[in-house]
This record gives sequence, C-alpha cells and structure tokens, in this order.
Amino acid sequence: VENYLARIEEKKHLNVWNEVYADEAIAQAKKVDEKLKNGTAGRLAGMVVGLKDVIAFKDHGLQASSKILDKYISPFSATATDRLLDEDAIIIGRQSCDEFAMGSSNENSAFGVVKNNIDETRVPGGSSGASAVAVSDQHCLVSLGSDTGGSVRQPAAFTGTVGLKPTYSRISRWGLIAYASSFDTIGIISHNVPDAALVLEIIAGQDEQDATVSQQPVPAYSTTVDDQPKEKLKIAYIKETVESEHLNQEISQKTFDKINALKAEGHQVEGIEFPLLDYLLPTYYILTTAEASTNLERFDGVRYGYRTDQPKDLEALYKKSRSEGFGDEVKRRIMLGTFVLSASYYDAYFSKAQKVRRLIKETTEKILSEYDFILMPTTSTPSFKIGEYGENNLLELYLGDLYTVHASLAGLPAISIPNGEDKEGLTIGLQVMANRFEEEKMLAFSNYLS
Ligand code: GLN
Repeated sequence: VENYLARIEEKKHLNVWNEVYADEAIAQAKKVDEKLKNGTAGRLAGMVVGLKDVIAFKDHGLQASSKILDKYISPFSATATDRLLDEDAIIIGRQSCDEFAMGSSNENSAFGVVKNNIDETRVPGGSSGASAVAVSDQHCLVSLGSDTGGSVRQPAAFTGTVGLKPTYSRISRWGLIAYASSFDTIGIISHNVPDAALVLEIIAGQDEQDATVSQQPVPAYSTTVDDQPKEKLKIAYIKETVESEHLNQEISQKTFDKINALKAEGHQVEGIEFPLLDYLLPTYYILTTAEASTNLERFDGVRYGYRTDQPKDLEALYKKSRSEGFGDEVKRRIMLGTFVLSASYYDAYFSKAQKVRRLIKETTEKILSEYDFILMPTTSTPSFKIGEYGENNLLELYLGDLYTVHASLAGLPAISIPNGEDKEGLTIGLQVMANRFEEEKMLAFSNYLS
C-alpha cells in the first residue's frame, strides 16, 4: 500500500484520482496482515483496488466526476465493493472518469483532463480512462470500472492493460451509478487475464438487491484460466471491420498477425459478413441517450449533491441546479435522449432502435453458435491527442466506439487484451467476444492468446 501511495503521489500530474484513502488503506492493510498471520485472510488478501467514481463505497464520496454530485457521500456500498472487501481487498481511492461515464477520452470530467501514462500528451481513453492508467502506471493492482459501450475495453487498449466486460447481468449493478441500465456492466481492468478471472469469480453472481442479475452459478474462472484449448477452435472475424480502410493500418496488421498465428496452430479462423455493421453506432447512441435521459432525471438539486443558490422558485431550483451541475456532454445526451423518447419521434427512433438491437443480438448469437469467438481490434486507432476532438468533430469521436458497442448491444462478454504497440510505442488492443455466459471459455482463450 505504501508503494502504491508513493507512486500515486509521484504521478499526481496525471490526474487519476478524485480522492485517495491513504490512512484508511494503510489501516486496512495492517488488519489484513494480522489476518494473514492467523490464517484467516480472504482470497484477495492485500489486493489493492481502485474504484471508478461511479461505484459506491459506503461513507465515501461518490460523484461520477460530476459537479452535480458535489460532496455527495454514499450511504451504502455496491455489491461488488462489498464482495471485494469480504475477501480482504484494500480500496485505495476513487478514480476520475468521463462525467457519468459518458465519453471515450476522460476529458469530460469536472475534475479536469486525465493524461495517458504512456504518452502524457494523449488521452487514456474513456470513460474509465483513469482506472486504466491507475493499473498501467502501478497506482493499484486492479481497478473496477464500468462498461456501457466500451468504457473498460477501450481504455485498456490505450494503456496496455486487460479490460473485461462480462455478460450483461453477470455482476450485480447495485451501487453502480446508472448511465444506460440495459447496457451497464461493472468491468475489471488488470495487468493480466488471471487477475481479471479471480476478481470476476468473486464479484459476479446473484444478489437480491438487483432484480436483473443472473441466477446462473458462477464458475471458478480462476481455476480454468490457465487451460490450453482442448480442441481446435473455430473463430470468426468480421471482414469489413478488420479489412476496413478506416482502421489504422498497424492495428489491422497486428490483428492479422494474431489471426495468422492461430491458423498456423491449426485453428479455423474465417472472415465473415455482418450486414448490420452500419446500424451498431446509431442504435447504441439512440438507446443509451434515451436511457440516460431518464436515469439522470433524479439529479434534481433536491435529493443529491449540488444545489443552486437562491433560486426564485422550485422550477428555477431544478433548472438552475441541473444547468450548473451537469457538464456539456451530459447535457447533450440528455437532450438527445429526451428527443428520441418524445411522443412525435418515439416510434421513428426509440422503438425502431429497440427492434434493431434485437436483430443485432440475434444475428450475433447465431454467429456465436457456429463459432467459438469473434475476434476484432478493440479500437480503430491508438490513443489520440488530448483536445483532438471537440464540438466540431464529436461525431468522429462517437464513431470510434464501433468495435466495442457491438458486444454491449448484444449483452455479450468481451475482453480487450494487449496486442503489441505501433511504431510510436502506443499500445494496441485485441478484442475477443464470446456467447452469453461463456466467460470461462473466453478468459482461458484470451489468456492463451496473451
Ligand atoms: N464511449 C462510449 C460512450 O461514450 C462508452 C461509454 C461507456 O461505456 N460508459 O457512450
């Protein structure tokens, strides 16, 4: 803990932490030392973990990197947090992120921009950018982030770490601040696949606080993660994405290197068509903004955090608190979401997008009933420069989520693992997607690939 705290201090300028629990982490470490002596320590004894600022930890600040939750203290812990603590993990602090997990660069935070440790002029990705830097730059061993459309996988690719998004409903969302509830998952960022497997095994599984969580038993991922494939695998890649001219050429090359290596080992790897590719991003942004606009209604200036000064009446209190409390990206998404849900446009946008989502899900599941995995790059470019995207080219930033939103729309598990570097030393990620609840197989395969 002391080493990590020293590192956090040394790398303060990266702006990773919204709050560090230094004294508490040391005290907790001493308790764990005692337990280790008496042989009563849990399975994560001494694992130092950071939480993205959207995951609740009782009696600690929780803000989603937003001014609207200024000084808000969570009265309870997320189920995932409790499960980590029950196994004697040590929570060292809460990490920055894009406000309410909306973004791909960690530039939308009320606490300011977060820098990538690999190249400080570049973004760490988002929205769990700080959580990824924290692992990559040795501020903690593991981070819990959230992944709604790639927020754990894309920053993992940008920082050379492993980012795991489980099947929707595998991990309880109790205590996770909602962005788009039918997409949101807690995700894990770690140095390697076995650490992710162990943490998943501990935090996944049924929970009476979350009605949507799966009742399926949780396999002992940590005991099978080192298994080699028992038979030859059948793997698909979507031709149009890996061969696309929009994909950075070095990323394409590195993806094909892996494909060819797998073929050389006797696995069957085939390029396939996915006719719904063009619909992934519009469907994702229609549905997530719609869900966000309703989820964020609760931040009204009365119940939580920030409240405006001396409003003239109740209506003004709501309006001014929200205008002053939310950042631009959050406001943009609330407006978009309100628009697609409005009576005149509901059928044209929201209900149509729901139908398209179902098609995407069914088509992808069908592919995964014929193939073991779908392989693709995690991102179309390596990390980009801080400030590269602004109001004039926001759409391009949204388009960058193409590879990660697929698994989120389909509710499927996916993992990003490091796949080398480009000529400038920027890290590249490779993504493995598997069928519903096939984390066990996916983790063993991605460990074998790493
Ligand atoms: N970049 C995506 C978005 O802005 C993903 C965010 C997320 O997964 N939380 O919506």
